[in-house]
Amino acid sequence: MSGKKELLISVAREMCRDALVLGTWGNVSVKAGEGEMWITPTGLPYESMVTEDLVRLDFAGTVLSGMRKPSSEWRLHAALYLARPDCGAVVHTHSVYATAFAVARQPVLPVVEDLAQMVGGSVEVAEYALPGTAQLARNAVTALADKSAVLLASHGLVGVAGDLPLALQVCRVVEKAAQVLLLARQLGPVQPLTMEEIISMRRFFLESYGQDRPGAG
Ligand code: 13P
Ligand code: ZN
Repeated sequence: MSGKKELLISVAREMCRDALVLGTWGNVSVKAGEGEMWITPTGLPYESMVTEDLVRLDFAGTVLSGMRKPSSEWRLHAALYLARPDCGAVVHTHSVYATAFAVARQPVLPVVEDLAQMVGGSVEVAEYALPGTAQLARNAVTALADKSAVLLASHGLVGVAGDLPLALQVCRVVEKAAQVLLLARQLGPVQPLTMEEIISMRRFFLESYGQDRPGAG
């Protein structure tokens, strides 16, 4: 378990180093067995965060261990684990380009391969609700559907995945796609990928992309 907590801290620091958050906003969690998660504390700088600062919660918000106050977005994280049994980690960022789309209330369309592979379609915008609320959590779950990223209106981005590094990578890829889409639209009309192309790329990513699996590539 201590390996998981160290990884959680290192992913939170990477999120900060990559400028996906500014200051103490954003949060990261990892599932810690059935019905529990480790989550970053609220309002604490990532650079000096240590494993003792992490909080273990059940999905009803009961603190099981840790001395700090948990992230104010624990309801969002809990709702995602409950709705998506395939989800093992959640990264919530306030990155600039993704947030621009969240403010404009426009989805990040699947115009590039890495987004199609990692998200499995467009990144939709959840209906607005105040940060930290159960309503925000419900809206995010609805807009996420079976994909791996969702925008929070006028707020930021959430990436979900089986593990922490992958959830962080989802957020990076969405941020890059949002930047590319904005730039491409300045050049002229953009061409989203077809549903058939997206399904094919998503399947390739899930079944054979990378070095780990026999016959990959
Ligand atoms: P924390 O409460 O984890 O600091 O998060 C702030 C935030 O991102 C609210 O949406
Ligand atoms: Zn936030």
